[in-house]
Amino acid sequence: METSIGISSPTSPRVSARELAAMDFRFRSGRRSLDLAATLGGRHRRPIERLGGPGDLARWFGEAGLLAGPPPVDDDRLILARELREAIYRCARSVIGGAAPAPGDVAVLNAHAAVPPLVPVLDAATRAITWTAPDLVAAALSEVARDAVDLLGGPQAERIRECAGDGCSLLFVDVSGAGRRRWCAMGGCGNLEKVRRHRRRSGPERIAGERPGESIERPEGEAFR
Ligand SMILES: [Zn+2]
Repeated sequence: METSIGISSPTSPRVSARELAAMDFRFRSGRRSLDLAATLGGRHRRPIERLGGPGDLARWFGEAGLLAGPPPVDDDRLILARELREAIYRCARSVIGGAAPAPGDVAVLNAHAAVPPLVPVLDAATRAITWTAPDLVAAALSEVARDAVDLLGGPQAERIRECAGDGCSLLFVDVSGAGRRRWCAMGGCGNLEKVRRHRRRSGPERIAGERPGESIERPEGEAFR
C-alpha cells in the first residue's frame, strides 16, 4: 500500500508520495547541463515532465544553485528552456553513441551560450555574492548552455553515461577512477538492480510478482528516473 498525502481535493485525484517524489528534480549527473536534461525523466517508457509550468523552471534555477530567488518565467521562456534541454539531451546521447551531434542541436546550444551569463556582485559589508543580469532567465540558461558546450567539447565528454537502471534515462558523468559507474545513484537504481538480482535468485514464485498487472512492492529506486 502506498502512502498518500493530503493534497487531494474534490477535483484532483490523490497523489501518492511516490508520485510526488518522481517529480523531484534530479541533481546527480555531476553537470548542470545534464541536470537540466534530467527534468524530463523516464524517457524510454513513461516520460515524467518535471518542467510542467513556468514556476517549475523558476524553482529549478533555485534548486540548481543558479539563482537565489525565483526569476520571472513565462511560457515562452519555458518553451526555450525545454528546447535547450532536449538539444542537450540529444547531443549527449549522440556523443555516448559515438556519433556527431546534430548541427541544429549544436546551434541551439551555441545560441544560448552566446547570451551574456550571470554576473557576480560582491556585497561590501557581508562579502556575500549574488548573481545578477539584465535578463536573469536568459543568463541562467546561458550558464546551462555554456556548461553543455564545455562538457561536450571537453575531456569529460567521453565519460558521459546513461544510467543502466531499468526505465531510467538519466545521463551522468562518470568521474570514478575505473570509469565503470553504471547507475545514476547507488542508493536508487543501483539498489533496485540489487533487489532484482536477489529476486531472480529467490525463485520463480517471487519473479511471478513482476508480471505486468500484478502488484509487487517496489523499492524506493522506482522513483529514481
Ligand atoms: Zn538511474
